[in-house]
Amino acid sequence: MLNIILFGPPGAGKGTQSQFLREKYDLTYISTGQILREEIAAESELGLQIKELIGGGGLVSDEIVAHIIEKKFIDHPDTAGFLFDGFPRTVRQAEMLEELLKKYDMSLTGVLSLEVPEEMLIERMLERGKTSGRADDNLESIKHRFEEYYEKTHPVTDFYLEKGCLHPVNGVGDIPEIFEHLCTVIDAL
Ligand code: ADP
Repeated sequence: MLNIILFGPPGAGKGTQSQFLREKYDLTYISTGQILREEIAAESELGLQIKELIGGGGLVSDEIVAHIIEKKFIDHPDTAGFLFDGFPRTVRQAEMLEELLKKYDMSLTGVLSLEVPEEMLIERMLERGKTSGRADDNLESIKHRFEEYYEKTHPVTDFYLEKGCLHPVNGVGDIPEIFEHLCTVIDAL
């Protein structure tokens, strides 16, 4: 089984690269951001509850996302592996993932961290905001997403660094080039 976390700041290209990775390695893709946006679009009870928070660039509670992950594990018992995009986003979520993987008799293969300078990230997200229709792709929300990232998400890299499973990958360049870097790391795992 291949269980990969694609890690990186907002706008690093995780969603884009995930589409190629899931296809090449036949992985079950879990984007917590995408799932949460679907809940908002469906105006479900959860969606209504988190709409304002996500639009403003804040993080949803660890319990809610852990529940989403567990549901995916239950729904895909025979998968070749999982690709996590946008999760874990806090150290608590990383701990919860360890517990969940153990519960379902799985283990983490590795964490690939896309490295991109911040100026480039903001530029990419503002550009994406012109067509994405995402409520959080505006300058004010982007700034808050970065604050959340540095305060709560960046510490996750130390968590995996200590475990020896963090693999930094250069996220600057064209899409196929970055994809190749990612595949080289995965194939060596
Ligand atoms: P990006 O990484 O480009 O900012 P995502 O689609 O991964 O976008 O996430 C969008 C928003 O969804 C986040 O800003 C946050 O509000 C929420 N979200 C996604 N994943 C998580 C998570 N694991 N924990 C808490 N909130 C999350």
